[in-house]
Amino acid sequence: MHQPRTISSHILSRFSNIRFGMSTRHGGVSPEPLGMNLSFRVGDDQKHVEENRRRFFGALGLDPHRLAVPLQCHSDHVQIVVGPGEYESCDGLITNTTDLPLVVTVADCLPVVLFEPAKAVLAHVHAGWRGSARKIVEKTIAIMGREFGASPDLMVAYLGPSAGVCCYEVGGEVAEVFSLDEIERRNSEMFLNLKKANVNQLVACGLRRENIEVSNWCTICTPGLFHSYRRDNNQSGRMMSVAMIMP
Ligand SMILES: [Zn+2]
Repeated sequence: MHQPRTISSHILSRFSNIRFGMSTRHGGVSPEPLGMNLSFRVGDDQKHVEENRRRFFGALGLDPHRLAVPLQCHSDHVQIVVGPGEYESCDGLITNTTDLPLVVTVADCLPVVLFEPAKAVLAHVHAGWRGSARKIVEKTIAIMGREFGASPDLMVAYLGPSAGVCCYEVGGEVAEVFSLDEIERRNSEMFLNLKKANVNQLVACGLRRENIEVSNWCTICTPGLFHSYRRDNNQSGRMMSVAMIMP
């Protein structure tokens, strides 16, 4: 049996009480092009998805039946959670509960993990262009501060693989809601730098640059490794990013 290939984070691995991983296309049982698809909502066989989840989460030592999963809708709504389940109409979860894996589902959108070690508060956010334009990361950090006393000065952030500025072409109506340094112009085309837009939010909130890790991977131009909705449309599976505070 193939071990699932999993993306890890240097900055999160510094904390022995944090477990983190993001899936790739590899190691699953669904027929290609789905492979390691972890979503029940893309027309994949339920039994395949269950086995894929068992493999991916199992490889990280996590129980696939105890996940906290936001039913994402490209909003800026973030919810504090204390137990497993599916959470309607939100795109980010926050917890200080141990043994509770927070999941984000992606295929080009950006997964952002935030951890404040002194208060042991964890957040996991789904930041596509809509959520980023609505500053979901800034809103999450504000809630972490207000509800848990988390300090941005101590916070670490991991920004995972997502659509990269190399490939993420956008129209004028998207470009105009981002600042100039978040859009790259090449000839008459415009490309969104989703990672930079979110780094800008982190820095504006007071995170130190050395506490921010940004994955270089672009999901669109790395077809051997990642699902991409932009590239494959309704042929695309979904990956999951997961973060948990260890008991
Ligand atoms: Zn690319």
